[in-house]
Amino acid sequence: MPNADVVVVGGGIIGTPVALELQRRGYAVIIVEPDAIGAGTAGGSAGYIAWDDIFPIPNPSVVADLPRMLLDKRGSLVIRPSYLPHMAGWGLRFLAAARPSQVQHAMAALVSLKRFADEALFDLARHAGAQRYLVRETVFHVCRTSKTLQQAVRDLEIVSRAGITGEVINGSQLLASEPALGQGLAGAIAIANAVRCTNPGAFGASLAQHFIAHDGMTHTARATTIESDTNGWLVRTGVPGETLRAGRVVLAAGVWSRPILAALGYRIPLESARGYHLMLPDPGIMPQRILRFDLEHFVATPMEEGLRLAGTVEFAGVNAPPSNYRADMLFDIARDYLPALNRNGAVRWMGHRPSLPDSLPIIAQLRRHPGIVVATGHERRGLTECGITARCVADLIEQKTPPVDLTPFGIERF
Ligand SMILES: Cc1cc2nc3c(=O)[nH]c(=O)nc-3n(C[C@H](O)[C@H](O)[C@H](O)COP(=O)(O)OP(=O)(O)OC[C@H]3O[C@@H](n4cnc5c(N)ncnc54)[C@H](O)[C@@H]3O)c2cc1C
Repeated sequence: MPNADVVVVGGGIIGTPVALELQRRGYAVIIVEPDAIGAGTAGGSAGYIAWDDIFPIPNPSVVADLPRMLLDKRGSLVIRPSYLPHMAGWGLRFLAAARPSQVQHAMAALVSLKRFADEALFDLARHAGAQRYLVRETVFHVCRTSKTLQQAVRDLEIVSRAGITGEVINGSQLLASEPALGQGLAGAIAIANAVRCTNPGAFGASLAQHFIAHDGMTHTARATTIESDTNGWLVRTGVPGETLRAGRVVLAAGVWSRPILAALGYRIPLESARGYHLMLPDPGIMPQRILRFDLEHFVATPMEEGLRLAGTVEFAGVNAPPSNYRADMLFDIARDYLPALNRNGAVRWMGHRPSLPDSLPIIAQLRRHPGIVVATGHERRGLTECGITARCVADLIEQKTPPVDLTPFGIERF
């Protein structure tokens, strides 16, 4: 095995930017990844770089709505009945995180990351020559009813305090800007300065290509354990006897970080919040921008390969087969908003958002294992927060003070 200063376990949209940032700072880095290096789960994401998404999932209104949500098989958040017993611990922590004081705490933490995320993402993209995949635009949060519009206006007041600008537009203004939408919608919140990733898979692949072209090393394998060694750490893989040695390790294997952490003695409630997309290569119509449908919690994103409908949350573990109807239902709901939409050649996809019950990621140096840094749990914001996460992780590796106070993202909170 080649020698490296740092082994990065997991080459998804968090691990790959981390590896690039460390490489830029002069470290010899090897990524261990069983699949293609680059985007990971984010390759199937909605491509929404969501500066305004500062709301943790746990909050009092979600808790009040939970019984209805869980009973509705086509709801935006479901738990497979067979998986319910596995969710007890996560669920209790979720309820605790929904207390108003905790929601405020989580929002402040997300805002602190977002403050640097835009600049860090564009810097990463420029460094890797991938900025052509990032388009600045005004995103519409489309509201079907006046009740959802009122809620969206309240949310806008909150995000505007965090420096995000937006305005309310009525139904006819909405239709004038997006003629593919149907009649009778209440209006929208137009969020300025949002960013759309036009091809998240290609974006991640560009980062990987840059890493490899500048002597970045890769090893195709699934890491199983991280063990201490005389000069640092040993990363073992599924191949008997195969090990990678390095002074430092970054664990960024998404939801699959959990068993590796458990073997080190850290039991964290990391679950897969499974999400779906339906890719429409020939949608018949094409919006000008990302349309976010707040009521049903999904988005329609114009991409290089067509229109992508993406969203919804399903808890069923990492191994259960996909529920195809959840991808299909995105089309049914979207057609309520975009009546001329067609699904010729539609492709379904399911992916795993690494999700912690308080909606905050872990970006932390392991206290009991100095030299191992963990970066996971970015839930529905991994693409959005990858640049700033990479900077923070590299600073932790170098024992420098990161630009963001990482206290809320510590592993000790669990
Ligand atoms: C439907 C959907 C829509 C989304 N939309 C958006 C969006 O619009 N904007 C946004 O910001 N985010 C979005 N996300 C969230 C985003 O995709 C995730 O936050 C992000 O992918 C998490 O990145 P990660 O690198 O931590 O994990 P992953 O992307 O899952 O990457 C983990 C990597 O580790 C590898 N791995 C697994 N086990 C091992 C092992 N044992 N050893 C080594 N490597 C291993 C995996 O193969 C994978 O490549 C969306 C997610 C979904 C599902």
